[in-house]
Amino acid sequence: RAKQKGRNTYSFFTPELQTHYVRLMRVENALRQALEHNQFELYYQPQQELHSGTVIGFEALLRWNHPDLGRVSPAEFIPIAESSGLIVPIGEWVLREATQQLRRWIDAGIAPPKMAINLSAAQFHQPNLPDMVLSILDDAALPPEYLELELTESITMDDPERAVTMINRLHGAGISLSIDDFGTGYSSLSYLKRFKISKLKIDQSFVRDITNDNDDRVIISTIITLSQSLGLRVIAEGVETQAQREFLRRLGCHDIQGYLFSRPINAADAEAFLRETVAS
Ligand code: C2E
Ligand code: CA
Ligand code: CA
Ligand code: CA
Repeated sequence: RAKQKGRNTYSFFTPELQTHYVRLMRVENALRQALEHNQFELYYQPQQELHSGTVIGFEALLRWNHPDLGRVSPAEFIPIAESSGLIVPIGEWVLREATQQLRRWIDAGIAPPKMAINLSAAQFHQPNLPDMVLSILDDAALPPEYLELELTESITMDDPERAVTMINRLHGAGISLSIDDFGTGYSSLSYLKRFKISKLKIDQSFVRDITNDNDDRVIISTIITLSQSLGLRVIAEGVETQAQREFLRRLGCHDIQGYLFSRPINAADAEAFLRETVAS
């Protein structure tokens, strides 16, 4: 059925659209209860230095298991958490959980050197973000050097001046920052120079076809050259095959993350993984 909104303007409320919105409302309502019902869990994905093979850090990735909805993918619920504002308290939970886990691994003598945590725009725009992060680090008695915050290009570029101020405050406190999904948004190179970031993460869409798509190889090689001239580290995401790994190594990429080295794993498996790497 079409409803006339004005001259020549119609909006269609199709069954598909209705199903979509019913699902959206259901997920958003369930998400409101998820924190208090302890339905979240963190998974950890190890990152590997290419030349030495050592673990340089973990990325914390949020998982949600709902009694009726089951396991909902972050690709579905993170955007809903962002549009509803729920990402602010959820993101704070992620920081607290990851830093306390890291504290337990430090006490056990098996901690990875860094924990990378994803930040959403809404979190980045909270003026008290640096204070919040520092107080969470303090609660876990964790030196700031252990923490790396991942930002996307769009977060930094929609208000670059404000981003410079915020990044300076975090960097000044000893926290490192990286740009996630690099190459998929647009970045201003002059700002990239002004941001005190330490790492670029090459998006997995460029890595996927690296072995047979010359354009993707050129893009990756350009990103690596750019990061070298800016003194940044570069990590490639979504590395699934030995062939991709070898291409990246030859292009001069420092680090990799992906199913080839390890899938994201729960805390118990991550601990076993750390014990193995420390022991070997
Ligand atoms: P992202 O930050 O780009 O995270 C990388 C995604 O790629 C993760 O998906 C990871 O499981 C997946 N991945 C890792 N290695 C491979 C690989 O070799 N091949 C393929 N095909 N995929 C790989 P995941 O965990 O489903 O998360 C999706 C997105 O949700 C993340 O993308 C991030 O944007 C967001 N997200 C996850 N956890 C958080 C969180 O705690 N806070 C915020 N704000 N966003 C989060
Ligand atoms: Ca990320
Ligand atoms: Ca990414
Ligand atoms: Ca992504």
